[in-house]
Amino acid sequence: MLSKLINNFFLSRNERVLKKLNDLVIKINSLEKDLLNLSDYELKKKTHEFKLRLKNGDTIDSLLPEAFSVIRESSKRIFGMRHFDVQILGGIILHKKCIAEMRTGEGKTLTATLPAYLNALLGKGVHIVTMNDYLAKRDANKNRILFEFLGLSVGINISGMSQEEKKKAYLADITYGTNHEYGFDYLRDNMIFCNTEKVQRKLYFALVDEVDSILIDEARTPLVISGSIENSSSLYNHINSLVIYLTPKNKKNCNKICKTGDFYIDYKQRQVYLTEIGLVKVEKLLVKHNFILKKESLYLSENIFFIHHVILALKAHYLFLKDIDYIIQNKKIIIVDEHTGRLMSSRRWSDGLHQAIEAKENVFIQNDNQTLATITLQNYFRLYVKLSGMTGTAATEAVEFNSIYKLDTVVIPTNKPMIRKDMPDLVYLSKQDKINAIISDIRSCVRRKQPVLVGTVSIEKSEQISKLLSKLNIKHNVLNAKIHSQEALIISKAGEPGAVTIATNMAGRGTDIVLGGILIDNSNDKRYLFKKNSFILKLWRDKNRLVVKSGGLHIIGTERHESRRIDNQLRGRSGRQGDPGSSRFYLSLDDSLMRLFASKSVIHFMKTIGMKEGQSIEHPWLSKSIEQAQKKVENQNFDSRKQLLEYDDIINEQRSVIYNERNKLINKSSIHDYILCILKDRIHYCIKQYISGNTINLDSFFSLEQELKNNFYFIKSINKFLEHDTTLYENVDKLIDLIVTTIQFSYNNNTSSVLKKYSNMIEKSVMLQILDIFWTEHLNAVDSLRQSVYLRGYAQQDPQQEYKRESFFMFQSMLESIKNNVIKTLIKIFFIDFEKEKNIYLNFIDNKDFNSFHLLIRKSIEII
Ligand code: ADP
Ligand code: MG
Repeated sequence: MLSKLINNFFLSRNERVLKKLNDLVIKINSLEKDLLNLSDYELKKKTHEFKLRLKNGDTIDSLLPEAFSVIRESSKRIFGMRHFDVQILGGIILHKKCIAEMRTGEGKTLTATLPAYLNALLGKGVHIVTMNDYLAKRDANKNRILFEFLGLSVGINISGMSQEEKKKAYLADITYGTNHEYGFDYLRDNMIFCNTEKVQRKLYFALVDEVDSILIDEARTPLVISGSIENSSSLYNHINSLVIYLTPKNKKNCNKICKTGDFYIDYKQRQVYLTEIGLVKVEKLLVKHNFILKKESLYLSENIFFIHHVILALKAHYLFLKDIDYIIQNKKIIIVDEHTGRLMSSRRWSDGLHQAIEAKENVFIQNDNQTLATITLQNYFRLYVKLSGMTGTAATEAVEFNSIYKLDTVVIPTNKPMIRKDMPDLVYLSKQDKINAIISDIRSCVRRKQPVLVGTVSIEKSEQISKLLSKLNIKHNVLNAKIHSQEALIISKAGEPGAVTIATNMAGRGTDIVLGGILIDNSNDKRYLFKKNSFILKLWRDKNRLVVKSGGLHIIGTERHESRRIDNQLRGRSGRQGDPGSSRFYLSLDDSLMRLFASKSVIHFMKTIGMKEGQSIEHPWLSKSIEQAQKKVENQNFDSRKQLLEYDDIINEQRSVIYNERNKLINKSSIHDYILCILKDRIHYCIKQYISGNTINLDSFFSLEQELKNNFYFIKSINKFLEHDTTLYENVDKLIDLIVTTIQFSYNNNTSSVLKKYSNMIEKSVMLQILDIFWTEHLNAVDSLRQSVYLRGYAQQDPQQEYKRESFFMFQSMLESIKNNVIKTLIKIFFIDFEKEKNIYLNFIDNKDFNSFHLLIRKSIEII
């Protein structure tokens, strides 16, 4: 009832928003006739005119109607495609920092050209974000012709490009690239030593395509740049061999909990908890295998990490399954994305989990990695001044988009009415019954020459169905998410008469399935291409007609996904641009979603109506109950993403402090005055320890002098100061000032013994490197804290609050340590090392060998 109300409210709000924009669409349409008579040259000149008007006080909002009609007119001339009114609507929504839900095949690539052009007029850069390299290249190259016609430049940002290439791509008016690449560039830009190495400009406008996939599905794994540290593979192997001695308290899909057991598995939260008995057993095992001494406790601070390793090994064995969560390829563990079934070869699970799985599978264990920089996609995209996105499926996640990104979702109507028939779910008692029914559905499609797309929830399931079809001699294609461009080619053929295509639910996303099939992939405009060759066109028309007659593209869902959105994504493959089509989901009581969430009431229901094997039922109540189950999982996943974000928010504040600091340092030609301030601060801090109240502790003069000497190379005698000026006894502040001035003076003397240019560079390099060392350490320490903070929950403390409090203290103490170490290192370099190494330093700088220069400095840094 409540959800219905909210739904109604949502719909009416949507209609109100659209209604309001209607006048703007009418206005844009009315401008069309004026542009018709312009020559190409005159049309191109519009860009220049708009830019001038922006300089003279016009805003992009006031330019919107004209700019949109110029893009539409240009697209007509270049592609032969006139932006539909709904695309104009979508363009306005995107410009207004919202999410436009536009169904698959509505032409989002073309829609994006409208806000991209308008916003690019400001010259601050527009980033169009795609799911993969293939789509970035495809869309950039497609739209480049249009943008360049209007005098704007287009860049592509994908992995593997050089720094120079990247810089150029980012300087372009409009840049196409993947979410990962943008995020990693941001992290890398905050690890450099010199401003000229930066590739990104200030982040201004990001327009995210397939926005749900990028901001929701991928948002659970943060981007991480890491460097390897020492190898501890034998530890992983040893611990891995111990876990067979531990027994679980509960098993999957079994509600029974044994009285005994060493650990408890929380399948939903993907966590493993050791029980009291388990901890005792682990301690014994570690003693037995000589990891810890007999009298030693597991809880000693130097032993506590064993618990972490044991938990990792247990997770590897019980929660991460081969061919579902990962596959083994070339003796390497490759993560499989749980939503898309895509292989994520460049990512590794963090915090040792990947190594634990490598140990379990007995493959080479790669070095432990240390996080050098990390950010969640959520926080990366929140850095943009302006953010918007488009996708075929956003409405179900409207709440999340709003609460996390402050983005409103607007559902744009389709260009032509949608006529796809979505049939109710069929539920079977057993998996076998279900598969039989699916096969017979596929068979009848093939008989009719109707193309069918079979969606699965994992690569493994895709392969199972493929095997079955092969046995039955049914010709088919399988998409297994290996190469994006190949995937696009296969999926573009999925609309051919009688084609059977098996894919994970979201594979090939971004590629259109045209009824009758498309003959040439990656064409800029099929009609234009076909016009060139009427024979090809006729061939395609015949095929298209055949497919339309057979009922259009049929979608078979072999299981309900955890998220309704992903199911909608699959359905949305069919019925584009007013095409006929149909869809049906097949379920059985063995499906994991049913087992985990819906089983009891459903079984009861089925029993009451006396259902037999081989039979299926469809009932509105059943669909409701399944939808409820999906909502439950969606909420859980939302919570876990929100939690990740809440934790990351705390680090995010700290990250922005550090990155701002870094940017300030990099942008200054000299940080000498800043260093003098820190120096003063440190001297004060040091002396304050020897003063009680306002009097100087005479007894400790000697040790104070020693400390000043050790830390600041202070070689004068304080006694002499006092002899000279007896008022200093009463005036501590004055004495401190005198010491500070003396030390600063000698520091200045030493630094000015080399040219300012050199000493500036040394100071900057020291400061930056120390900042980075400590920030990295902090990131890893905070990560460990996060892993263990849940234990505080047992002590009636709120883990998140504890995390916040403690990471704040850690951050404060890190800032202190940075200051200490910077001063200590600089004093060491300028007062000690320099005598021997001065020429080496200067040589490196003169020869612009900055790598060696920074390395030499790195060697002088001793962390205290
Ligand atoms: P989406 O991303 O919304 O699923 P695409 O951007 O891939 O859709 O476009 C689907 C197809 O529709 C493409 O072949 C594209 O060229 C075509 N198309 C888009 N807009 C128009 C238009 N205004 N007129 C004609 N064809 C269009
Ligand atoms: Mg698209």
